[in-house]
Amino acid sequence: MKKQSLTILGVTGSIGGSTLDVVGRHRDRFEIVALTAHSSVEALAQRCIEFSPRYAVIGTAEAAGELRQRLRQAGCRSEVMHGAAALEEVAALPEVDSVMAAIVGAAGLRATLAAVRSGKKVLLANKESLVMAGDLFMAEVRRNGAQLLPIDSEHNAVFQSLPPGYRGDPAASGVARILLTASGGPFRKLPLEAFADITPAQACAHPNWVMGRKISVDSATMMNKGLEVIEARHLFNVAKDAIEVVVHPQSVVHSLVQYVDGSVLAQLGNPDMRTPIAHALAYPERIAAGVDWLDLCKVAQLNFEPVDTQRFPCVPLAYAALAAGGTAPAILNAANEVAVEEFLGERLPFAGIHAVIEATLSGLPAEPASDLAALVAADREARAKAGEIARRMRR
Ligand code: NAD
Ligand code: MG
Repeated sequence: MKKQSLTILGVTGSIGGSTLDVVGRHRDRFEIVALTAHSSVEALAQRCIEFSPRYAVIGTAEAAGELRQRLRQAGCRSEVMHGAAALEEVAALPEVDSVMAAIVGAAGLRATLAAVRSGKKVLLANKESLVMAGDLFMAEVRRNGAQLLPIDSEHNAVFQSLPPGYRGDPAASGVARILLTASGGPFRKLPLEAFADITPAQACAHPNWVMGRKISVDSATMMNKGLEVIEARHLFNVAKDAIEVVVHPQSVVHSLVQYVDGSVLAQLGNPDMRTPIAHALAYPERIAAGVDWLDLCKVAQLNFEPVDTQRFPCVPLAYAALAAGGTAPAILNAANEVAVEEFLGERLPFAGIHAVIEATLSGLPAEPASDLAALVAADREARAKAGEIARRMRR
């Protein structure tokens, strides 16, 4: 069997690490061509030493120098490159079959698009690229014959619950609605008066999932679910009003598809990202992921409740941005990234995250998202505006 060759963008992150864990269990199936990281020289070096990729990409020339030296000492012969252009290059290499897009935030857009434009099998964790540039992104997928496999656990569950070969036509497939589950994060039951004192450490302590800091805060505000509604809209071509969020604290039912005949199909499993990663890596086959069997008797209960939009105002904000269309989702995403960064740096209170995003959206009217340049400009403008608003809130 020819090995599937892989580039992993963002290998030093949570998804990157889980991907290597699955790949490491199946070295007869997968071969790593390139690994990338933003700034962690030592973490990238260790992964290169273990998996001997042909290329390693890091953010700056200085970090690349350090990485080269570290790899030489260890006898590892990966060629070291640096910068954003190198990310696009290793995402589009002709010898690469599949690209795991696991950079966090809008920073992942260009490299993920490069993988799409070279017609790869793209394993999409970087939801922000779809939020920011959904229509354009999906048009590129179609034009270049790329295969898009969702890694986000909810979207992977929806993908598994849709008919095989689903082509983005819900009516033709009898699909009525998509139900995205959400754990509700660490503050589902916290008294509202206590929201003012939430610290970054508390926000990053998710009850069911271990994830990077940005998505952990997004889960705590539930903006993560808002971004996922937009992601689902583009991935599955389902109207916004046919996407519903259901709070499900156990994180066992990963999402559901409701059909016109009343049938509801779901995918269940322990909350472990290695399941969707293994599913997408091996698709349409199945491989072991190292995940414990789901013990339903131990889980005992599966509970569901509606979203409390007063507690989690970021969810309606995302629906509103989706309704406004054009550059609004890119503005929402950029303002959220800035606000989360400010919160993690302890310069903005937790409740300020929503306030910054809302004020940014109302300060910058949506424009048509005619091309990538318009979206990148909207992203830049929204970051400046959100930064300004956050600074004013500090005083
Ligand atoms: P993380 O913070 O743990 O890792 C991010 C990775 O991106 C790191 O390797 C980092 O070096 C790289 N990176 C960061 N900024 C970069 C930049 N400017 N340029 C190049 N590389 C950069 O994040 P994560 O939790 O692994 O999440 C990655 C993506 O997957 C996000 O889009 C997130 O929403 C999505 N996702 C994550 C999970 C999860 O369980 N962690 C679940 C679903 C979706
Ligand atoms: Mg998710």
